[in-house]
Amino acid sequence: MTINFSKLTTVMALAGIVTSLLPVAANAAEVNIYSSRKEALIKPLLDQFSEQTGIEVNLLTGKSDALLARLKSEGANTPADLFLTVDAGALHRAVTAGVFQPLAAPEITNQVAEQFRSDEDYWVGLSLRARPIFYAPQRVDVNKLDDYLSLADDNWDDRVCIRSSDNLYNQSLVAALIDHHGTEATEQWAEEFVDNFARQPVGGDRDQIKGVAYGICDLAVANTYYFGHMLNSDDAEQRAAAEKVEIFWPAQDAQGTHVNVSGIGITEHANNLNEARRLIEFLLSEPSQKWYAEANYEYPVREGVSWSETLQQWGEFKKDDIAMDILGENNAAAVRLMNRAGWR
Ligand code: FE
Repeated sequence: MTINFSKLTTVMALAGIVTSLLPVAANAAEVNIYSSRKEALIKPLLDQFSEQTGIEVNLLTGKSDALLARLKSEGANTPADLFLTVDAGALHRAVTAGVFQPLAAPEITNQVAEQFRSDEDYWVGLSLRARPIFYAPQRVDVNKLDDYLSLADDNWDDRVCIRSSDNLYNQSLVAALIDHHGTEATEQWAEEFVDNFARQPVGGDRDQIKGVAYGICDLAVANTYYFGHMLNSDDAEQRAAAEKVEIFWPAQDAQGTHVNVSGIGITEHANNLNEARRLIEFLLSEPSQKWYAEANYEYPVREGVSWSETLQQWGEFKKDDIAMDILGENNAAAVRLMNRAGWR
């Protein structure tokens, strides 16, 4: 009995210790993130971060505009410390909506070229994607390809696949062209470019690459990581389609190929500032940067981080050095221009 009692006391004492630890556990470091990036493309990194730091990460994924609307309606009550989204246009929308506060961590953000972060310190790029031209090597003379403007040449009449103008990636591309060539020249280009469409825009970027593979068109414009996923797909049909298509890096003698970012910012009402900064630091660390290149066939946003084998096979190319902020600032003008040009 006594022994049992003593045992019980010990258990209770242990329980007491555990109980006294509980308030600490309840206040355990955590960080909350809203992400428009699919769970599979961010969760493995967040798990690693938690393992290394003991900081718990709560992830909510959704469509970019829906998450932004939620952030706005939650206001000061939002649990979100961080908002992660893709495309400079979406980041610009978040800045304009006033949901970010300055990152105020230059030692972290300065690792990224100025071009790929907010000039007001509201967000920093995490990964890069390029938007080149894809072509059917048997049907296209690459010597006739040049910059994006060359896609409007009569030579490509009814031969181009591209998705609709309500897609942010296309809006950002046109926003860049407005900056490089002016509104008038870009609009004239867009009208002739639309004339070259092989079909009314339909589907996503992968569908444009498949359009080239299946002979619906001879040229397409799409983001590189879709091509990477197709080439490395478990689905034999996707692999076979991708293998019929090649990349052409446009504007190598001009401004360079259009690139865009995924990026992250700290919310205006963040409660876990230090944890939020530590997570950004982690996402910009060399292993995380490499992970993006391996898992999603994206380019590291930091210079000097090695590329995945797939990216290396596509070769080096000259990137457009336009600031991502300009893509956001020109977004509305780009949308209006595409509408006027009849780009559906
Ligand atoms: Fe995408």
